[in-house]
Amino acid sequence: MSKKATKKEIETIRDKFIEHYSNAVTELAYKDDYELLVAIILSAQCTDKRVNIITPALFEKYPSSKELADAKLEDVKELLKSCSFFNNKAKNIIAMAKSVQQLHSGEIPHDTKELIKLAGVGNKTANVFMIEADGANLMAVDTHVFRVSHRLGLSDGKTVEQTEAQLVKKLKDDLHIFHQAMVLFGRYICKAVKPECEKCFLTDVCKTTKTFKVG
Ligand code: SF4
Repeated sequence: MSKKATKKEIETIRDKFIEHYSNAVTELAYKDDYELLVAIILSAQCTDKRVNIITPALFEKYPSSKELADAKLEDVKELLKSCSFFNNKAKNIIAMAKSVQQLHSGEIPHDTKELIKLAGVGNKTANVFMIEADGANLMAVDTHVFRVSHRLGLSDGKTVEQTEAQLVKKLKDDLHIFHQAMVLFGRYICKAVKPECEKCFLTDVCKTTKTFKVG
């Protein structure tokens, strides 16, 4: 079997992911654009489960970007302290809220180019926001998407950027579905250590159970 997925195998992967995950959404809890963007920023290098434990108190104290923009750094740090990189994340979400207030009258922009101008928002965060909020035809590569796409022969990229470009080229459309699918498939079935191959619906096209980590 070739290490790269063939056109036929890519079709099988597309079909199976659509069959199993066409209605998949993020597991982050949120009720508006502001909460979604904050939750995505906090989820970098942190589990969605942990973020969902932290955010209710955070959003109760700071219900919109207006309140968060005026927050004291130490108070936000205290609320985020069980999250990885909480010092930087506290600074970033306050800075993001300030820029949303100053540049967008408090409304989170639904535009990747505008999103990445906000403090603390990089390309991946912007894409995840657009995928979740608008079902945008974009890809975002996290640790799960990286590993799954390499195991399935959809990418041999060494970096997140290379992998994203290869996935966009090979999967072309419905990218929001494939992003959500690979995150959930990677989290619950194609796990980094001991993937649950007996539950897998892609064994016929799988190239390896090796663990790949973002380089
Ligand atoms: S067979 Fe195992 S390693 Fe391969 S894609 Fe399925 S779960 Fe992942």
